[in-house]
Amino acid sequence: MSKSIRKIVAILLLITMFFSFQQISVSALQTVKPVTTSSATRKWRELTGYYNIKTLNDLKKAVKNAEKTNDAHPYTLKKNITLEEPLVVNGYLDIEGNGYKITSSTYNGSKGVLFKVGSKGYLSLSNITITGEKTSLISNNNYLFLKKVTAHSNGKYVAIQNQKGASCEIYGGKFTANKNNILILYQNSQAKIDGSATFNAPNNNDIWIAGPYASIDFYSATVNDIYVVPGKQNYIYNHNNKASIGKIEPAFNFLFPVPKYTRVSSEWSKNRTLNGVTKPHGGIDIAAPKGNAIVASEAGTVVHVKNDADGYGLYLTIKHEEAGKTYYTRYAHCSKIVVKAGQTVSRGTKIAEVGSTGNSTGPHLHFEIRTENDYKFEHTLNPRPYIIDAKPLYLY
Ligand SMILES: [Zn+2]
Repeated sequence: MSKSIRKIVAILLLITMFFSFQQISVSALQTVKPVTTSSATRKWRELTGYYNIKTLNDLKKAVKNAEKTNDAHPYTLKKNITLEEPLVVNGYLDIEGNGYKITSSTYNGSKGVLFKVGSKGYLSLSNITITGEKTSLISNNNYLFLKKVTAHSNGKYVAIQNQKGASCEIYGGKFTANKNNILILYQNSQAKIDGSATFNAPNNNDIWIAGPYASIDFYSATVNDIYVVPGKQNYIYNHNNKASIGKIEPAFNFLFPVPKYTRVSSEWSKNRTLNGVTKPHGGIDIAAPKGNAIVASEAGTVVHVKNDADGYGLYLTIKHEEAGKTYYTRYAHCSKIVVKAGQTVSRGTKIAEVGSTGNSTGPHLHFEIRTENDYKFEHTLNPRPYIIDAKPLYLY
């Protein structure tokens, strides 16, 4: 082979290697985050040439027109409108609200539902107030865009329901619900929240993530609480920690125990294979240099400091009481422990240093959250859902 051909072959080989590597990482990612719908294919639209909506009939016509074409004219609200039945949107519908209201009167059946976005629907509402006795917006396998919307549900149900595969984008606005949740995310649905949107459901969780495989991306928002159904591979991302999220239930407020080092080299697993041996892994391994500080994940009392040369190495366990339950965090393979049994520690105080003592191949922290202070795998929890500030990912 000539020199230049060899060069080309080498480059091709490199390109092939690069792409096969890319594919591996992409498919690996997809196995843990199989959300495929994306708001990237829909953008906020800068609209001109509005049609006016002055009556309920105008609104009904707009909804009907949306069905006929994939890109109907946008509409602008010129009056408050009261619906006597839910409107099903099965096309593209943009409504600029001009600060007007769409409310529900009392009617039977789907009492109070304002809009249902059908499976082929796309609804964009901006500068509008919507209030329903029941659910205000239901979106199913489609797109829902809310920009500077005030949505309120008086009654039993929710303001926004993202059903199977739905994608919703919320920019700014204010969302309240008196009796139930504001936003519910079901299977494979996703939400993006930005523009300092605020959520307040005083008598329930603001957001309920049912999943499986639902995800929510926060960029800027204020949320009091989120309930996430455990074990359903649901995700919450708090990008750059910009959103204020009061609490995530059933997650507790455990801190990531190694400041600055957030790489988890091995996850909690029921059947981890390591060096050809498959067995449960009761914690997460956080890779960090020897001597790096380990902090108390939550306030509590040190129950013991121990050394187990064949297993945990130098380790300690802290007992925590929260919401009427007892939890234990365990920190293993330390090079040094700077607290004593019986000592109370506050959240975030240094308790030890990263090491590689015991059964370990390199410096890391093996971190466990347990329901019992024993050695049974059955009493360990996947720490991920309990760590509030693992950046930026919470995994359930
Ligand atoms: Zn480990």
